[in-house]
Amino acid sequence: MQIEQNIPLAPYTTLRIGGPARYFAQATTEADLIEAITFARTNDLPLFILGGGSNLLVSDAGFPGLVLQAALAPNALHIAPPINGEITYTVPAGYDWDAFVLATSQAGLTGIESLAGIPGMVGGSPVQNIGAYGQEVSQTISAVHALDLETLTPRTFSREDCGFAYRTSIFNSTHRNRYIITAVEFTFALAATPTLTYADLKKHFAATTNPTPLEIYEAVRAIRRTKGMLILPTDAEPDFRSAGSFFKNPIVPAATLNHIAVALSIAPEKIPHWPTGPHEIKLPAAWLIEQAGFPKGFTQGNAAISTCHTLALVNHSGQATCADLLALRDTITQKVQSLFEIPLHQEPVYLS
Ligand SMILES: Cc1cc2nc3c(=O)[nH]c(=O)nc-3n(C[C@H](O)[C@H](O)[C@H](O)COP(=O)(O)OP(=O)(O)OC[C@H]3O[C@@H](n4cnc5c(N)ncnc54)[C@H](O)[C@@H]3O)c2cc1C
Repeated sequence: MQIEQNIPLAPYTTLRIGGPARYFAQATTEADLIEAITFARTNDLPLFILGGGSNLLVSDAGFPGLVLQAALAPNALHIAPPINGEITYTVPAGYDWDAFVLATSQAGLTGIESLAGIPGMVGGSPVQNIGAYGQEVSQTISAVHALDLETLTPRTFSREDCGFAYRTSIFNSTHRNRYIITAVEFTFALAATPTLTYADLKKHFAATTNPTPLEIYEAVRAIRRTKGMLILPTDAEPDFRSAGSFFKNPIVPAATLNHIAVALSIAPEKIPHWPTGPHEIKLPAAWLIEQAGFPKGFTQGNAAISTCHTLALVNHSGQATCADLLALRDTITQKVQSLFEIPLHQEPVYLS
């Protein structure tokens, strides 16, 4: 494995933003991982684990340590013989997420077909418990295999150990930077059939009975495309240079509805929200941003809100710096905070 120096990180991110990594290595085996970690330790360098760079904003100054891409065995997929009506796939961290979703959807398995079209690698999927169109990856993950960065020993986590919640796991909260995920196990019930819970999908299949996982996979990709939430092979489309949703949907006390209603002079019933607990609700960040005066296509300098999706901040010009993105983020969050007293939290990881 080669450890390279001063490698620009922008091409390794879907936003196409960011300065250089002082050192950069791509690990395809666990031996590579150990070699790279030892190099970082010996040279007293900070270490950052990179997947597909689709949930990442890199600073303009880059990263002064070692960026280690966990591209482990990208072509290998292990399928265990079915047992008790279930089938388990063990997928290496470097496997392309969407290719894995396609493989299971083609096999007629339900559980992750609504997560079609999410970019990145399988190793990144548990980190923020990716979710879309009514499914979360935590519903299908049965185990996560990782390398402990402190002890350099392997460790296996059950689903319960992972502490999954909305856009959260132990890997991006309590145990952030402690483990490199090396492989993920997904278990599917062979007799299960798809359940559609998401409005866009229900509408899409209004005239179809019992859509197959593969039909749902294809429908989700088609819907995502209309929303600028699909990475295409070409860089030509400005709305597609994003890190997906830039803001999480805020979870707030239910009483916040009254505050928003007063701020906008509307009835509380008119405010879209989902209950998440007895006294808590989740609000759509996109709606709050629009109500705060930021429509799709809003542009500030070289950065913009996607013309297809209010939650995606885009490098529409191809020339945006990290500073441009952060300035747009701050313009939006400050206005939402001052109008509704709701802090919006950034979803992509910031690397500096
Ligand atoms: C167009 C678009 C649409 C998107 N849609 C969605 C969506 O619908 N739902 C959703 O949840 N997300 C979405 N995302 C965000 C993103 O694709 C996911 O979070 C994805 O799982 C990130 O994986 P990655 O391999 O690119 O990770 P990276 O962006 O490279 O890394 C993200 C974080 O994970 C850590 N990480 C990555 N790999 C490993 C590993 N092997 N071990 C330990 N840590 C690791 C990194 O250190 C970093 O902290 C979207 C992004 C884009 C660009």
